[in-house]
Amino acid sequence: MMAAGRAAERGAKVLLVEKTYRLGSKLLLTGGGKCNITNSAEMQDMINAFGENGKFLYGALTVFSNKDLIDFFTSRGVEMKTEPDGRVLPLKGRADDVLAVLRKYLKENNVTIQHNRTVKSLNNIEAKKIIIATGGKSYPATGSTGDGYKIAKQAGHTIVPLSPGLSALISNNFFIKELQGLTLKDIAISVIIDGKKKYEEKGDILFTHFGVSGPIVLNLSGTIIDALANKNKVEISLNLRPDFSPQDFASFGSKTVSQYFKKNLPASLSALFEKLCSKTSNKKCSIVTREERKIIAAYLTDFRITIIRSRPIEEATITRGGVSLKEINPQTMESRLVKGLYFCGEMINLAGITGGYNLQEAFSTGYLAGESAADV
Ligand SMILES: Cc1cc2nc3c(=O)[nH]c(=O)nc-3n(C[C@H](O)[C@H](O)[C@H](O)COP(=O)(O)OP(=O)(O)OC[C@H]3O[C@@H](n4cnc5c(N)ncnc54)[C@H](O)[C@@H]3O)c2cc1C
Repeated sequence: MMAAGRAAERGAKVLLVEKTYRLGSKLLLTGGGKCNITNSAEMQDMINAFGENGKFLYGALTVFSNKDLIDFFTSRGVEMKTEPDGRVLPLKGRADDVLAVLRKYLKENNVTIQHNRTVKSLNNIEAKKIIIATGGKSYPATGSTGDGYKIAKQAGHTIVPLSPGLSALISNNFFIKELQGLTLKDIAISVIIDGKKKYEEKGDILFTHFGVSGPIVLNLSGTIIDALANKNKVEISLNLRPDFSPQDFASFGSKTVSQYFKKNLPASLSALFEKLCSKTSNKKCSIVTREERKIIAAYLTDFRITIIRSRPIEEATITRGGVSLKEINPQTMESRLVKGLYFCGEMINLAGITGGYNLQEAFSTGYLAGESAADV
């Protein structure tokens, strides 16, 4: 929508072909319907949010930055608010308002829209320039079924292998179901690969019937999925009581270990730890041996969850992989292989962390593709 609107605004005659009966189905789902359109991050942090491929975005973000995106919507009547963590959302929290602005932008610039038409190959379309913006492979019910990858491949492009991005993770630990529904806020999480601690971050984690989710898990999922693909053993370690000390524990004196757990942990975790430490849970804290205390400390400060795989790509927030960045000119978004062919959005090999970065990427690359394609 941004690419089509910008190309038309620049004077091109534009046809927007949409596979489904309506535009922007995925956009309406974003941010839980509130549409976290971007992040207030400075340019370098924005780039860093996409890992080592991020530098590809300098061109697009220079032409159309997060500030430009916010202006685009506010100047068209949708006020934005910035959360303390940098996420930018419509003040009224309605993704529909964002979609309405984009639809109006298309209408004002006389973009012709064809709904319910699936582009299967470049031969399907007669045009001087073509921009492919078919999105990733997740949430296929929204229309993003990965068609663009096939079309790009037919045109000679390399597709970096696809995998789920910002995905929930599956564990085979017996206790997972017992923790279902538990949310832990601002907790230190480490990724342990083949027994070695690799990454540590702080954030919120949510236990589900299959494993773990929540913003921090989604952000770490890429690294974990890559490690699993390499057949590494992956665990997540949670530090539930960073302030645990033998003194603090001993100060519980005549209270039992079970009472200590109840005092210091949410109910479902306390019940699980009582079970895991069944030999000591009825003992008084003051008479627990050093060895026993070490085991308790390990559960509290290094609670391990084994990860066996991610949820399928269809359920992921975004798709990792896509059209190789080496084959796209970052100053124009034009294919380096086929003149007059452009790519933008999620289908190119860029995957950001949560926080509005992925929509910003789609809008910036879309804007640049539209601008360049219209520049006859
Ligand atoms: C549940 C959920 C929540 C999210 N929340 C956020 C968030 O809050 N902030 C954020 O930054 N990102 C979020 N994202 C990610 C973000 O939605 C995507 O990165 C973004 O929508 C990608 O935009 P796009 O235009 O590249 O592709 P899409 O939005 O997927 O649009 C692609 C369009 O192409 C059409 N299409 C596909 N194939 C064809 C074909 N062959 N012919 C014609 N048309 C075709 C599709 O029907 C679709 O309309 C979220 C994603 C999900 C799934």
